[in-house]
Order: sequence, then structure tokens, then C-alpha cells
Amino acid sequence: MKERTDCIFCRIAAGEIGSDLLYQDNGIIAFRDINPLAPTHILIVPRKHISSLAELSEDEATLTGTMVNVANCLARSEGIVERGYRLVINCGREGGQGVAHLHMHFLGGRQLGNQLG
Ligand code: AMP
Repeated sequence: MKERTDCIFCRIAAGEIGSDLLYQDNGIIAFRDINPLAPTHILIVPRKHISSLAELSEDEATLTGTMVNVANCLARSEGIVERGYRLVINCGREGGQGVAHLHMHFLGGRQLGNQLG
């Protein structure tokens, strides 16, 4: 798969930059966020370079379901499936997206606030 040399998540997926990798298959990787906002903060990332949720084609839409499946597996392996967790995808500038490669935040391990915005 052709990765973008200027994209940090493509470089992590290619193994060029180290990460605390928790899961990988042909389509998805998951690794711990370098700047965690919760005791469990994992990024679930497609290997394919898709710059944001807004760039996801109709054909690729099932990818988000696959990402949710990975999140549910991680919830079990992290031991927080009963306590609960939160999945977040930031999209674009006003959506708070900093890294221009589609990714889902998996947050858990503490009581998260009610405020979303
Ligand atoms: P977002 O603001 O939704 O684009 O989130 C990007 C996330 O990527 C942030 O939570 C960063 O802490 C995280 N991040 C950036 N670089 C790395 C890295 N090299 N390894 C792990 N997480 C990273």
C-alpha cells in the first residue's frame, strides 16, 4: 500500500516511526496516543491514507465499522468493557482534527465528562 512520506500515521503504519502498537491487521493499526487524555487513549487508524472522515468514499464507509470492531476488541483486552469508553473521530479544522489521516480516538479508564464540544 502506498503511504505518504509526509504523513506521521502512514509512517507509523509502515513501521518507520515507532509506536506502542496494540493491534494490527492488513487494514487497521491501533497504538497508544503519545499524549494521552485518559488512562486508556488509543488511536485506531486505517493503513490507507484517507485524510479525514469527509474524504471517506461510500465504498470505504464500512471501514468505520471495522474500526469500531477493533475498538470493542480493545475494550475487552484493556479490561474496561464493563466500565465504558468513548470513541471520537475529529474531522477537519473546526472538528479539532490535528493529524490529516483518518483516525478514531478510543478513550477510557476514567469518568469522562458530559461536554462534547
Ligand atoms: P486529532 O487531534 O484528532 O488529529 O488527534 C491526533 C492525535 O494524534 C493526538 O491525540 C496526538 O497526541 C496523537 N499523536 C500525534 N503524533 C503521535 C505519535 N507519533 N504517536 C502517537 N500518537 C500521536
